Amino acid sequence: MATDYDAPRRNEADELGEDSLEELKARRAEAQSASVDVDETDFNESLELPGADLSNEELTVRVLPKQEDEFTCSRCFLVQHRSRLAATKGDQLYCRDCAA
Ligand SMILES: [Zn+2]
Repeated sequence: MATDYDAPRRNEADELGEDSLEELKARRAEAQSASVDVDETDFNESLELPGADLSNEELTVRVLPKQEDEFTCSRCFLVQHRSRLAATKGDQLYCRDCAA
């Protein structure tokens, strides 16, 4: 009698555990891919769109007077010295922090 009562309880618990584990894994994968999309793709796309909500960043770049030996990083929009230039992609310049 004790074994009869015990067996179904264990099976139930096992199934429940597996289900929630799979669910957790799926949710974690979704969350990860979602955050990667926002960080990389969304940011790069908005750089190309003049109508996007980038007014703050563009304003910062224009207000700062840029010297001849300085460049504006295309990613963090900071004006930095030429010696901090680490990479170029076409017209875009990247500082050491952003190229790393
Ligand atoms: Zn940068």
